[in-house]
Amino acid sequence: MKVLKFGGTSVANPENINRVKVIVQNVGSKKVAVVVSAFGGITDLLLNTASLAANQNLKYKESLAEIENRHISTIKELIPVQKQSGILSKVKSDLNVLETLLEGAFLIGEITPKLSDKIVSYGELLSSFIISEFFKAEGLDATFKDSRELIVTDENYGKAAVDFKKTNQQCNAFFEADKHQTFILPGFVASSSAGNSTTLGRGGSDYTAAIIAAAENADILEIWTDVSGMYTANPKLVKQAKCVANISYEEAMELSHFGAKVLYPPTIQPILNKEIPIVVKNTFHPEDPGTYIAKNNHGNGKTVRGISHVGNISLLSLEGPGMIGIPGISKRFFETLSFEDISVVLITQASSEHSICVGISDDDVEKAVAVVNESFNYEVASGKIKPVIVEKELAIIALVGDNMKSHQGLSGKMFSTLGKNNVNIRAIAQGASERNISAVIKKEDVKKALNSLHEAFFEENIKQLNLYVMGVGNVGSKFLGQIQQQNAYLKEELKLNIRVIGISNSRTMVFDENGINLNNWQTALANGEKADKSQFYEKVKSLNFRNSVFVDNTASEEVSQSYPDYLKNSISVVTCNKIACSSNYDYYKDLKQLAKKYNAPFLFETNVGAGLPIIDTLKHLIASGDKVKKIQAVLSGSLNFVFNNFDDSTTFHDVVKQAQKEGYTEPDPTIDLSGIDVMRKILILARESGNQLDIEQIENEAFLPKESLETNSNEAFFESLVKYETDFQKIYKEASEADSKLKYVAQFGDGKAKVGLQKIPKGHDFYNLEGSDNIVLFFTERYPNQPLIIKGAGAGAEVTASGIFADIIRIGNF
Ligand code: ADP
Ligand code: ASP
Ligand code: MG
Repeated sequence: MKVLKFGGTSVANPENINRVKVIVQNVGSKKVAVVVSAFGGITDLLLNTASLAANQNLKYKESLAEIENRHISTIKELIPVQKQSGILSKVKSDLNVLETLLEGAFLIGEITPKLSDKIVSYGELLSSFIISEFFKAEGLDATFKDSRELIVTDENYGKAAVDFKKTNQQCNAFFEADKHQTFILPGFVASSSAGNSTTLGRGGSDYTAAIIAAAENADILEIWTDVSGMYTANPKLVKQAKCVANISYEEAMELSHFGAKVLYPPTIQPILNKEIPIVVKNTFHPEDPGTYIAKNNHGNGKTVRGISHVGNISLLSLEGPGMIGIPGISKRFFETLSFEDISVVLITQASSEHSICVGISDDDVEKAVAVVNESFNYEVASGKIKPVIVEKELAIIALVGDNMKSHQGLSGKMFSTLGKNNVNIRAIAQGASERNISAVIKKEDVKKALNSLHEAFFEENIKQLNLYVMGVGNVGSKFLGQIQQQNAYLKEELKLNIRVIGISNSRTMVFDENGINLNNWQTALANGEKADKSQFYEKVKSLNFRNSVFVDNTASEEVSQSYPDYLKNSISVVTCNKIACSSNYDYYKDLKQLAKKYNAPFLFETNVGAGLPIIDTLKHLIASGDKVKKIQAVLSGSLNFVFNNFDDSTTFHDVVKQAQKEGYTEPDPTIDLSGIDVMRKILILARESGNQLDIEQIENEAFLPKESLETNSNEAFFESLVKYETDFQKIYKEASEADSKLKYVAQFGDGKAKVGLQKIPKGHDFYNLEGSDNIVLFFTERYPNQPLIIKGAGAGAEVTASGIFADIIRIGNF
């Protein structure tokens, strides 16, 4: 015999039931037992209707009407008209009984567990009956069998325990006698020896199928559901999850125990000793191979086979100085919980025996606190033990695998991965079987934790970075263009998957949890919501993705002040905005420390020399023990462009205009022309070389007239340049007569920094600096006479964007 079980989604509507029929027709076995769930969503609806009725809310009638409709319309669609009447009258009479039961609950204003089971059993009873009639109408040699006549349980309503001896006898007798080929049976339902309807627990149809498979020594148990097998993590939460082709009974059991809903935890028990294999298959993709669960079936020998989680967990801790002295505390603690039927999902006990801590379902927490406090009443009153401590809204996340016990370092990797992503761990447990390591974390961190762990254990090669980009002017838009262009290469060659989750300019902002399509981000952004910097931050925080990076392409002071918020949430910051690193020293230092503390890189390579690897080189020099003695540099691409193009055939005004047009200046050109921009850059280099310096300490020999410097609009500024043209020509003439070129030079040495326009004679390293190039000479202990020179294009949107990109890649390798 083969046993096939179809879940709620697989039988949710006539179209799906047709798929089920095709699958059953293709089984090719002499005997097939088909166990079905209620039509998708009906169990929840029944429970909801019952609770409305018990609360004497007349809305239960609407809810009941919806249940009726679902079943009646399914019959009308599936069964030919001439065969409908008998089926409709049987189903309507069942629905009438259901209505009477609900009326009873409504009138009394209460629902007992016994009545609840009776009501909820109609979901499976109706679905299996309708499907069996459909199969018959389609010509299958099929018959309906009520599982309540086969499976015997105790009267623990809601989650009854099976009497396997009686159940097996009844199954054997029935299947021996009945010669049909296909049997359709309701999952989930059973009955007590007194004949009352019981249920096997939510998700229990899997269990029904396993009980029948075990009783009949089936060749195989097939669980048909809405995913293509057991995955390395819940595929609804982890996009990168992969189907596990082979898995052992124990591993599958452990995964389901820790929340892999695809298999109801008790399912494996009855078939474990009989060694009946289970296959988990997808009703919607029957061609997919699915997951094969069998004895010692370790597949490719990977240590960690899956990651799962249980939500809605609370931690209960019992602690106090008197605990060591009192014998049997743990025994009493667990007994107290078990008397109340509170199941303990996880246990940890500190080796000091000062405290015991257990994880239980949030639903049980109030009851648990009351009974434990009562049970330890005397010890609490005498101060030996503290009243029980509760923490709610937690979740357990577990790594599962048979081979984990023989491998060191897995828990280290697990905890460091969680730590890096700012997931706080509240408690840890390692099952005695060493088949799992579990950690208790905050509920809101579950998705991030699952994805980070999945990346660490199953996608060792691919790392996902989630970017939030603020500012999409010249630099920002080039940057997005570069990511789009390089995405495939990065995935293939660097194993980096870069997704842009949020974009904002000063007007609008847009988010897409699956990554914004970079082919038309402009349209998405234009149609986005109104921009708001603090809401942007709140959104980034609430999305709570792992490996998040905030990219600041603005020149805004306000944005630069938000970095600590991001860093404190382990969100890295990459910026071409120089304001943060050149503001007061304490702020700069703070940002560096936050980055260290929260494991979130803070990178700003483009603050000096656009895309040139100046800061990175400096970092490596310092890290390898070198010391910077002196820095000489031309650091303003804009000023270099201006003085390279300015001569007696042009005007200073026109050249500056052109520089602005070509994107070589800051939005406000006085920031470049006043030398402030260069002061910021040399300040940053001095700081990165290990010096405590502030901008006020830098000497600036301005060449612009005071009036130009003090203008308060771009327009007024450009007008003043026209006015002072003769002065500018004079500066040019003096330099050309001395056979020199004008360069705006920044210098640092002996703790002091200085910037200003200088006449550079022929032969000097700076003399031949072209276009908007930058050059930096580092004189260090290791490069005392011949400096380490970095030279190249130091301004422009394209190179700045590529510098930001390089920082992002550095984070990818972090
Ligand atoms: P059915 O109604 O067919 O019994 P369930 O909803 O009970 O289906 O179980 C299937 C669901 O289990 C999937 O849709 C998926 O969301 C969830 N699930 C959780 N963890 C896993 C996992 N590790 N592998 C596959 N599915 C999982
Ligand atoms: N219908 C029941 C539930 O939703 C049992 C099952 O589908 O397995 O829990
Ligand atoms: Mg299920």
